[in-house]
Amino acid sequence: MTRREGSKFLGLSLAALGLGGGMAKAAAPAEVFEVNKTDAEWKAMLSPEAYNTLRHEGTERPNSSPLAGEHRKGVFNCAGCNLAVFESGTKFESGTGWPSFYDHLPNAVAIKSDDTFFMTRTEVHCHRCGGHLGHVFDDGPKPTGLRYCMNGVAMKFVAATA
Ligand SMILES: [Zn+2]
Repeated sequence: MTRREGSKFLGLSLAALGLGGGMAKAAAPAEVFEVNKTDAEWKAMLSPEAYNTLRHEGTERPNSSPLAGEHRKGVFNCAGCNLAVFESGTKFESGTGWPSFYDHLPNAVAIKSDDTFFMTRTEVHCHRCGGHLGHVFDDGPKPTGLRYCMNGVAMKFVAATA
């Protein structure tokens, strides 16, 4: 088969696949992230808990993450793509059992409305890979008045080196 025939064959295959329900959904306009992986690729690289949270908007059990009680200086990276999303200076004790912050690092997260839980919550996801990190509420401390309620399993703590 020549190169020309090969690309023609590929084009026809994609068109045929495009008629399938699954492909049509995947081809719908979606947010484009700097780090893009297929669902299978994420599943292979993440722990089951991190995969469920980051890729399927799961929520870990309160007090289940060691990061809830993490008080050292350092940064909290997205467990999916390693982007630094929060830092220890903005972490506070919310009493919820989830790591809580009053602010995020610049250009680290994006937010979107999520009304799947009887009320409208504001979902926080990683700016670089789209991974679901948690939610933000407006009952946090000063100076922002915001409470970023995060899933520890969706992040990796990197302690600052002295
Ligand atoms: Zn990420």
